[in-house]
Amino acid sequence: MIPLSVIEKKVGKQWVIFSDFDGTITDRDAIVMTLERFAPPEWKDIARRILKERTLPVQEGIQQLYALMPSALKDEIIHFVSEEVVLRDGFTDFMAWRKQAGIPFQVVSGGLDAFITPVMAPFKGDYTLFANTAHFEEPSIVVGMPFAPKDCAVCGTCACCKVEILNQWDEASTFKIAIGDSVTDFGMARVADWVFARDALAEELDREGRAFTPFDSFHDIQRVLSKVLSV
Ligand SMILES: [Mg+2]
Ligand SMILES: [Zn+2]
Repeated sequence: MIPLSVIEKKVGKQWVIFSDFDGTITDRDAIVMTLERFAPPEWKDIARRILKERTLPVQEGIQQLYALMPSALKDEIIHFVSEEVVLRDGFTDFMAWRKQAGIPFQVVSGGLDAFITPVMAPFKGDYTLFANTAHFEEPSIVVGMPFAPKDCAVCGTCACCKVEILNQWDEASTFKIAIGDSVTDFGMARVADWVFARDALAEELDREGRAFTPFDSFHDIQRVLSKVLSV
């Protein structure tokens, strides 16, 4: 099922993909995998206060989560994510396809650059990364937030404002495709022209009655996009 507006906008606009990383490009959430492996158990309380209870602001919560891990673990964590994080089914084929189709690929993530780039190494030069940054100068990991919202009416206090990132692309000449899996993708889903969603993001969009295309693998996304592009 392809929204009519998609076909109308197909002509004359540059298609750009904005994809979440954890639980979207990756099969499992790599941040959770890293915390499970390297952080003491109290990370779960912090995560619950950020995501479920919403009593801890996201920016502060993320600092607290990474502060649980010593900077000395840097190389070990990089090794861990390189070895253990699995890409979602169809992603490698999808990246080759969309490159040939001339669709730029932007990764937008609240995760840390140092732990994303090793996983994305096979696609180096084929994507742009917008993420929080990891700093290892202090005894424990410190998070830099170059994309913290400046004036975001949609998500307000997020750590990495996906809305403001999408808004950097011109509305009139760009057709924005968002791909995501969780509540932190809800903002970009509201400003994108077309949304592919799974898991909590799909549930949230359902509740709001917003149109989206569900996906499980990147084969699903490629199938739908290639169909529209060949219309
Ligand atoms: Mg995610
Ligand atoms: Zn925002």
